[in-house]
This record gives sequence, structure tokens and C-alpha cells, in this order.
Amino acid sequence: MEGGDSCSPSMANMDDGEVAWRFGAKNPALAAASAQSIRALVYGMYACVDRSDPRPLAPLGHGDPSPFACFRTAAAAEEAVSAAVTSGKHNSYTGAAGLPEACSAVAAYLSRDLPYELSPGDIVLTAGCNHAIEVMMAVLATPGANVLLPRPGYPLYEARAALGGLEFRHYDLLPDKGWDVDIEGVEALADDNTVAMVIVNPNNPCGCVYSKEHLAKVRSTKERMCPLQETARKLGIMVISDEIYDHFAFGSKPFVPMGVFGDIVPVVTLGGISKRWMVPGWRLGWIAMTDPKGVLRRKKLRLKQILESIIVYRGISVDPAAIVQGAIPQIIANTDEAFFIKAMNTMREAAEICYQSLKGIVSITCPHKPEGSMFVMVKLDMPYFEDIHDDIDFCRKLAKEESVVICPGSGLGMRNWLRITFAVDPQLLEDGLDRLKSFCLRHAKFNTKQAT
Ligand SMILES: *Cc1c(COP(=O)(O)O)cnc(C)c1O
Repeated sequence: MEGGDSCSPSMANMDDGEVAWRFGAKNPALAAASAQSIRALVYGMYACVDRSDPRPLAPLGHGDPSPFACFRTAAAAEEAVSAAVTSGKHNSYTGAAGLPEACSAVAAYLSRDLPYELSPGDIVLTAGCNHAIEVMMAVLATPGANVLLPRPGYPLYEARAALGGLEFRHYDLLPDKGWDVDIEGVEALADDNTVAMVIVNPNNPCGCVYSKEHLAKVRSTKERMCPLQETARKLGIMVISDEIYDHFAFGSKPFVPMGVFGDIVPVVTLGGISKRWMVPGWRLGWIAMTDPKGVLRRKKLRLKQILESIIVYRGISVDPAAIVQGAIPQIIANTDEAFFIKAMNTMREAAEICYQSLKGIVSITCPHKPEGSMFVMVKLDMPYFEDIHDDIDFCRKLAKEESVVICPGSGLGMRNWLRITFAVDPQLLEDGLDRLKSFCLRHAKFNTKQAT
């Protein structure tokens, strides 16, 4: 983005005579939000790649397995979309919460894993899970409010909060404890103005999956730190559970939705089909009120009528494409279990390749073997390197010299860490990690080179 400046055509500097254009000032909120953008950071790495390098580019920076044949979506999902097109029934605008049949299908899909039934009215469809994040950060941005976000996390939360003027505070995920939430940290951060905490499970960027015990602890901590006078249960902060990687767990721990504990504290579950079905370009996500007691609909509470605000905001925002909404009932009903099993087997294999290769690099530490999502966080052991200043420098040089793109941890609040995705064709992944290893060796200090 910024790098483009030096390439701008000279037209940009042409004198316009006496016209004093009044526009062009940078919106300060947008500048604050763009400082949080991880996209810009990763795109910047692509710009460093040497185009004359004949080796295939290894894209280990962002999680999108859809270009690889081994991760092609289910045939049933493709057929559902083409049937939705040819039916001629999905060419209209859809309502502010989404197409009713699609909301019903999502409610039934999520209810499979919950001890209660969701109704179609608990679901608001969005243009991908990113849009769900936008909606939630916007509706919570009341004057003075703050939200608690994980570090490392998913920077769109920070960007959307900054854009809407919602204060955010970071609690830590603990690498030595399998990236569990630092519960004490959460308690220390919350105050009377805290309205929500966000968790991501299975976790991007850490690759961990939270156990049922840990989720229950997150829940009860929330009750204890409830800042208001009335009962903790009625007035506690809500949990926003980003479950875009629902069922994307290939280790020993099963995926447990936070909504299982929705009777104690209201949970807003964010999700979608982008990751599990591997179709991020289809732009279909959702916001689910996993809140069996209906706290989010009550009118007298502090967080009054949050559901109504969500629908109002969604109504003045964008709609997911009607075609994909129309296809959702069939996408969910017709994708057989075999597709998911095969996808998770390939993902498990890729995560294993990734973990084993990383273990073979002395200057990189991987604190936790990935067991879910498409990512792993690793630490650069800086004293090993001769001529690398930090993670950003590392990633730029790596892109230039090896055509391997990795996301620097700085973009996620973790300086001198890296986020690596393994959702890549296994052969290319192995190749990319081999290049990462030779890069690390080449930039090692002389004495560490001898040791390895
Ligand atoms: C990919 C991702 C999203 C965005 O999902 P889309 O449906 O593609 O918008 C949201 N949250 C997390 C944690 C993600 O990794």
C-alpha cells in the first residue's frame, strides 16, 4: 500500500490550477484502524518477493486453503450454489436478518452441539464472519465502553473497534499453558465499563482448542468480575465467541462451543462457512444468540436489546449474496461427513509436517503443537541471528530470498514471533518450510552455524 507511492504516475503531481480541493484529509479513525490491519502487513511481504525466483511462492502468511486441489470444497456445496442460481428464486433482496430458510438451517446446524434449541430468530446472517465482527464492534461502541480482546488475536477486532471508537484492552494467551486465557489478567483488566470479552476457539493464530473445563472457567471468571450491583448473572459482560473454526479440531480435544454455557452468561457466537467448507470467497457468516435465557433481548438491562441493535446495524450495512443464502440449507444438509473427515485428515497431516519441520530449526521455538484452526505461532530466538533485526525484517528478507511469505507476529501484538499457516498443499508446505530452514541457517551467527 504505502510502498506504491514511489511508483505513482507523474499525473498525480499535475498542477490543477486554482482549484482548492477540500477533500483529501485522512479520517483519523481510519488511520487508527489501518494501523491494526494485518492484511496490509502480509501484502507488504508479497511485495518483497523476487519475481525472477523460479520456485513456486509458498504462501504461509494467510489462511486460505481454497486454491489447492486437496482442499476443494464439497461437491454438494458447489451443487447447492448452482441449484440456487438456476432456481431463479434467489434474485431478490433478502431481509435485514437474512433469508428465513437460511436462518432456520443455521439455527438447526448450531443446535446439534448445544443443550438447547436455537430458533431462526436467534440468527443474523452476515457477509462472512468478518462482517459479523464489524457488526458486533459497532453495536457495542457506546460512549466509554471497552472490550477485552486476546493477544495474540485476530486484528480485525482491533481495527473495527478503533474505527467505531470502542476502547479495547488486551488480555494474554499463555504460550506455556497451551495458549489458554490468562484468567487473572482478564479480571485485572475489566472495569465498570467493560461490556464484552472476545474468545476465538479453535484459535487463530495459536492453533489451540479450548477444553470444556477451560471454557467453563472463562465463564465463571466473567461472573466474578461482573462490575454492576445487581446479580452477576443478569448484569455480567457477554462473551463473544468467534467460532469460525467450529469443528476445525484435529488433535485430541474436541471442539466445544461456548454457547454450551449460554445459560450462565449470554454468549454471542460468530461463525460461518468460510473455514469449515473452505469457501472464504462465498462470504456467508452469522451471528447467533446462544443465549437460552434471552438476556440479549431483554429491554431493561444495561445491554438492552442488543439483538435489535444488531439487526438495525446489519440493515444499514451490507447483505450476504442472496444466492449463497439460498444455497445454505442444501450446503448444510447435503455435505456428508466424509468431506469433513477427509479435510481434517489432510489438515492433521499438514499440521504434523509443519510441527516436525519447525522442531528441526534451532532458532525457532514452537511452544504448542497445533490441534485446530489453520495456524501455529512460533517464537524467533533472536540471539541466534546474525543480521535480522526483528520479525518484520525476518519476514521481508525471507520473502525476498526464499519466496516464502509468513505473517510477522508484530501484526498481532507479538514482536519477534511468527504466525505460520499450514493450510497449504502438503508438498508446497514441506518445500516452503525447508526454505525457511535454510534461510535461518544462512542468517545464523557463525558459532551457532557450527553448532547445527
Ligand atoms: C478467517 C477468520 C474470520 C473471517 O471469516 P470470513 O467468514 O472469511 O469473513 C474471522 N475470525 C477469525 C478468527 C478468522 O480466522
